[in-house]
Amino acid sequence: MIYLDHAATTPIPKAVADAMYEVLTDQFGNPSSQYALGQQAHALVEGWRKTVADALGCEPAQLHFTSCGTEGDNWAVTAAAWQNRHVGRHIVTTAVEHNAILEPCGWLAKQGYEITYLKPDKNGDLTAEQVLSAVRPDTVLVSVMMVNNETGCIFPVREIADGLKSINDKTLLHTDAVQGFLKVPFSAKTLGADFITLSAHKIGGPKGIGALYIGPRVRNPKPLLAGGGQEAGLRSGTEATAQIAGFAKAVELRQEHLTEKLTHMAQIKAYAVERLSEIPDLQLIGDGTAPHILAVSLVGYPSQNIVSDLSAKGICISAGSACHQGKPSHVVAALGLPKRTASGVIRLSFGPETTTADIDECADALKVHHDTRFPML
Ligand code: PLP
Repeated sequence: MIYLDHAATTPIPKAVADAMYEVLTDQFGNPSSQYALGQQAHALVEGWRKTVADALGCEPAQLHFTSCGTEGDNWAVTAAAWQNRHVGRHIVTTAVEHNAILEPCGWLAKQGYEITYLKPDKNGDLTAEQVLSAVRPDTVLVSVMMVNNETGCIFPVREIADGLKSINDKTLLHTDAVQGFLKVPFSAKTLGADFITLSAHKIGGPKGIGALYIGPRVRNPKPLLAGGGQEAGLRSGTEATAQIAGFAKAVELRQEHLTEKLTHMAQIKAYAVERLSEIPDLQLIGDGTAPHILAVSLVGYPSQNIVSDLSAKGICISAGSACHQGKPSHVVAALGLPKRTASGVIRLSFGPETTTADIDECADALKVHHDTRFPML
């Protein structure tokens, strides 16, 4: 199998599975239990929290484990609206965020919030000025993702944070860094965001575990789940110890020779651009600069058919985002591409294990698809 869909999810290294297995079988205590097995589990969770927090550049106490990136995104939106309920009812975000942001913004809109959805340009880019000029005295939250999951475009979160201070110091800033963490360099300490969402399964960790960084400007954050008081009272529920162990192990492994891994992915992406550009009717989409995501369109060839044809040859790529399952992607729609271009958009995404031979096979299969299928009119 050739796996070119690392933005959807990533393979789990054996060391991660082993770390999880050990917790499931030996260290299975409840971190809230008073006896030694429970206290060991508690100490382990705090150690794993430190591993992830160190990689993010924050204090362990600022990092709260969640059940996924979606949960972190939902929580950030509702927590910001709650903290700033006396400031106003306006949110600035982008039309190309993950649905985990767009949906909660939609709920708030039904409750009277006004949401400004900024559109990127045709290359998928967004400027800090665009974002900052949309901020008003009643803006409670700006939520702008770090790396778009379909185009690979990197958004200027740091510049937005810098500018926001002088425009409205009450406005909180969230960034969904699910596709940015350990892919593009940043540190929570210097980024200036109040909330940062992470998800483990994009970096070789298990599905079903993520984290939300909550910075010091968020005072008395609204708990997401109330109950036993875990996660500093903010997200109750017995800690998913095996998932957290897997998350921390994945972070540890990713950090080993990280620069080399990122350079490798960028080289693979450059090679893919070169090979795919040889295919007639193939157009690069956007100028995404993240090292692991490449969007292209086989203009006139519906992406679902491309994905099925390649799947039959054991090659996994995605039609836009895996989250859309065949429906037209809101990200591609926001780029305003012509219909034949938009319907042919596919996404290739890479990991440290991806080889040039994988790219060759994929490029050859795409060429065969082009040469043997009729394009739409
Ligand atoms: N945000 C982005 C940018 C994503 O790419 C994804 C997953 O595809 C998510 C959020 C959701 O993360 P999770 O699958 O952990 O809920």
